[in-house]
Amino acid sequence: MVFTFDIEEHDRIEAAAQCVLSPGYRLQYRLRMAVATHYLLDALEQWGGSATFFVVGQIAKTHRQLVRMIGDRGHEVASHSWAHRRLHTMSPEEFRSDLRLSKDALEQATGHAVVGYRAPTFSLVRSTAWAIDILGEEGFLYDSSIYPVRHDRYGVPEAPAEPFWLKGRGLSLLEIPPASLSIGPWRVPIGGGGYFRLLPGPVFRVALRGIRQPTVGPSTVLYFHPWEFDSTQPRLPLSSLHRWRTYVGIRHTRGRLNRLLATIDPKNCLRMSDLASRLLAQRSLLSTFELPLAVAGST
Ligand SMILES: [Zn+2]
Repeated sequence: MVFTFDIEEHDRIEAAAQCVLSPGYRLQYRLRMAVATHYLLDALEQWGGSATFFVVGQIAKTHRQLVRMIGDRGHEVASHSWAHRRLHTMSPEEFRSDLRLSKDALEQATGHAVVGYRAPTFSLVRSTAWAIDILGEEGFLYDSSIYPVRHDRYGVPEAPAEPFWLKGRGLSLLEIPPASLSIGPWRVPIGGGGYFRLLPGPVFRVALRGIRQPTVGPSTVLYFHPWEFDSTQPRLPLSSLHRWRTYVGIRHTRGRLNRLLATIDPKNCLRMSDLASRLLAQRSLLSTFELPLAVAGST
C-alpha cells in the first residue's frame, strides 16, 4: 500500500476556482496548510512508515523548511505542478515550463531528485494526453494523474485500474493510478477524498481489502490532502452540493486516519518511487494503454 498526500492550500481546490477570496483568507489557508501538514508528518512518524507527498512547487518557495522536513523524515517529495493549474488550462509549452519550475523548486528545497508527478485534479485525460511525452522528456519516472473511474470532473474510465504503461506519441511512462474498487460493472474511486471521509472506517477498510491486486504485487494507492484534516478551517463559499462534497465527514478524519494506520503494518507500505522501481523491474508484466490523442487546447 502507498499513502500519498497532495500538499496544497485549501483555496486551490477546483470547487473554489470561482470563489472571490480576500488576501487575508488566502493567507490563513496557507498557514493552516502548513499546520495540517505538520500534523500528518507527526502521525506518520508515530506510525513508523513512509509516504509520498505530491507538493505544489510554489510551496517550496513559501514553506521551504516544511518541504525540506518532508524529505528529511524519509518521505518522497514529488511534484503536484507549480501553481496547481489543471492541464487543460495550459498549452504544452506552458506545461513544460510549469513542470520545470516545480521540479527545480522542490529539488532545491529537499536536495533530492523529483521523479514523480500528479496533475492537479487528476487532469491528465484525453484532451491533455500531449502531456505524457513532456513528462517523459523532463525526466519523470512515473505519473499518478489518471484516475480510472467515471467522475464529473476527471477520470479515464477505460484506463486499467492497475499500474500500466501509458503510451504517448513517442514515449511511454509508468502510470500508477489511485485505488479503485470494482463492483460489478462499476469502478468506485475508493482511494481517498470523499470516500475516505464518508464511509465508516470499518467499511472503508473492508473496501480496501476487496481491491484486486495485480501479479506485479500489491499497489493500492491512497491519497489525502492536508485541508481534509483541518476541521475548524473557515468554510469556502461553495454551492450546497460542493459544500457537502468538500466537508462531509471532515470532523472525523484525524481519528479515521489513525485507526487506518493502526491496522496497517508500515513495513508493507512503500513510497511511490520505491513502488515505481519495483514495477520497472517487472515492466514486461505491465499492460500498455494509450489515451486517444486530441488536439492540444480542445476539451
Ligand atoms: Zn491538488
